Amino acid sequence: MKSIYDLTLPQMEEMMAEHGQKSYRAKQIYSWLYRKKAVSFEEMTDLPASLIEQLKNEYEFLPLRLLEKQVARDLTAKYLFELSDGMTIETVLMHFNFGKSVCVSSQVGCNMGCTFCASGLLKKQRDLTAGEMTAQIMYIQRELEQEGYRVDNVVVMGTGEPFDNYDNVMDFCKTINSDHGLAIGARHITISTCGIVPKIRAFAQEHLQYNLAISLHAPNDELRRQLMPVAHAYPMDELMKALDDYSVENHRRLTFEYILLKGVNDSDAQAVELADLIRGKNAYVNLIPYNEVDENGYHTTDDRTALHFYDILMKHGVKATLRTKHGEDIDAACGQLRARHERADKS
Ligand code: SAH
Repeated sequence: MKSIYDLTLPQMEEMMAEHGQKSYRAKQIYSWLYRKKAVSFEEMTDLPASLIEQLKNEYEFLPLRLLEKQVARDLTAKYLFELSDGMTIETVLMHFNFGKSVCVSSQVGCNMGCTFCASGLLKKQRDLTAGEMTAQIMYIQRELEQEGYRVDNVVVMGTGEPFDNYDNVMDFCKTINSDHGLAIGARHITISTCGIVPKIRAFAQEHLQYNLAISLHAPNDELRRQLMPVAHAYPMDELMKALDDYSVENHRRLTFEYILLKGVNDSDAQAVELADLIRGKNAYVNLIPYNEVDENGYHTTDDRTALHFYDILMKHGVKATLRTKHGEDIDAACGQLRARHERADKS
């Protein structure tokens, strides 16, 4: 059954028309969902009883429920949700000085197979619907509101490849961005992709203001192919060409994500090679400390080497940030909590 959160406002208006209702009803429902945070159709008291009845028969409400929540010492919180079909997904809430950020999952599992990532331990089972992504935000928004906060930023960086679930991710972003939805500014929404070139090109043509982040993790094809199988399908020069075209179309600054893996991609020479690749682009590099995953043998670069890598980028004319770790004492790496949960289930 579809969730009511699956519908963008235009889709809701269309649905109202199909039910012989005036289109303003769609905004009323939207307001119940996203302003008043209703938890059932019955609460929508300004709708005709017959419409409420129809909605109840045709749509489910919140399509997920909380199974487990872990809170780290730095208050980073990880939520394990169960979907209506029993599958599980993870969502992370991070508290930054610039606001509350929620990292949503876009698929159940992931097929991209990045060798360092825990998400790929469990292959993709299915795409998430727009409503299942929106519901992750709504659950946390409700919690935050009780403490006087709200979700300020959304990053589509949880489990899954958003550009392998393009339409649903776009609908989700549209809903949370809508003035009638959660009204989260487009510049506060970030989509992170491993580099699916045709979808980067499609996204560029839509001229949306969401931030685009690219998981790069290597300065050349040879190493990138070892870390990220997607690089076989979309080599570096095609990726960079698509991103240059995106920049021409959109005038938006790109983010390159680069996880520092000890002895793998963190040498001085690789820093120089990375700088040569990025210099001149309207972009910066986000250096990410690696959250170690037991299963795969990669290790985190030590702080001194990380800082040195950062310095080389800056000296070679590339802007970079060196992120600090969050949620180190919980299973915060993409897919970790879920992988542990599924293993426990099977044993
Ligand atoms: N598929 C998308 C979004 C999900 S991954 C993408 O590839 O961008 C989100 C980010 O987390 C990516 O940059 C990914 O490489 C990174 N990541 C995955 N596992 C990690 C780990 N164990 N530690 C730190 N970052 C990780």
